[in-house]
Amino acid sequence: QFQKSKGQHILKNPLVVQSIVQKAGLKSTDVVLEIGPGTGNLTLKLLDVAKKVIAIEVDPRMVLELQRRVQGTPFANKLQIIQGDVLRTELPYFDICVANIPYQISSPITFKLLSHRPFFRCAVIMFQREFAMRLVAKPGDSLYCRLSVNTQLLSRVFHLLKVNKNNFRPPPKVDSSVVRIEPRNPLPSVSFKEWDGLIRLCFSRKNKTLGAIFRQKNVLALLEKNFKTYQALQGSQTQTDMDATMFSDIADDASMAIDIAEDREDEGDDHDMEMDENDGTDMDIQSSSTFKDKVLKVLQGGNFEQKRSSKLAQEDFLLLLSLFNREGIHFA
Ligand code: SAM
Repeated sequence: QFQKSKGQHILKNPLVVQSIVQKAGLKSTDVVLEIGPGTGNLTLKLLDVAKKVIAIEVDPRMVLELQRRVQGTPFANKLQIIQGDVLRTELPYFDICVANIPYQISSPITFKLLSHRPFFRCAVIMFQREFAMRLVAKPGDSLYCRLSVNTQLLSRVFHLLKVNKNNFRPPPKVDSSVVRIEPRNPLPSVSFKEWDGLIRLCFSRKNKTLGAIFRQKNVLALLEKNFKTYQALQGSQTQTDMDATMFSDIADDASMAIDIAEDREDEGDDHDMEMDENDGTDMDIQSSSTFKDKVLKVLQGGNFEQKRSSKLAQEDFLLLLSLFNREGIHFA
């Protein structure tokens, strides 16, 4: 009777539940947010330790089951259940999030949490193993990708626990991992839209040199268009106006939701993206040679031309972005 589309895989092994609660490091004063409590196996253990648990569950049958389980117990007044889709629900105040979530919405949940204010202490979340390994991947790791870079800009991520699929009923197709996500506070002072625009380009083919990526005609045309827009705006918009947009829309931006499937394309053969300068296939997209020189000069100046995104760290991308921005070159 469990619905696959809602990712309903109930965690059956009490040892794993116990281990998650223990690794979360809960305090008796904590308000805990749980996403997708299901039948409440994890919820009851959280209620044991925390001051309050707020659980968001989309399936009314699960809500009833959970209510039934706490009814008449001392837990009843420590538990608040919100029935609804977590992605469409305004999150309440919480100190810590603990959840065994439906895997199909891993990416939007992660960025919704990371854009939540005020800052929470940490989130301890069960993800599909591969998604978890992408979250924690470092430069040079095979799973290092746009998801890794974006998440690690906003938080510090630690792998806590491997969980075999047989600990769930029904067992999912893949193994899982529990990770701990600690939001960075304060955040690096960078516009997230600018940052994501750059990262998207750099990881469009992560094993290609930045020199090759930034020589592509469509990339240059886009950047030149942005360049002209910013030039036109200069004087009419103050720096404070621009700063006000920083990080204001991380979660609203649907484009932030990164699918593993989308990301996998990075690893394919990249001949299809190889765009010779003289191939003449897209005559309608033009950029001037002086603008191209400007872009290449930035890359060369920072010694980035021969570098590949798969090997670059967050500091490298932050430096590259500031070098581009200094020349009036923007990505959003
Ligand atoms: N936490 C329980 C456990 O560990 O046994 C259940 C985990 S199960 C993987 C995911 C739960 O999330 C299910 O109860 C499902 O109904 C719920 N769910 C699925 N999509 C949801 C959504 N968009 N918003 C809130 N809950 C959702």
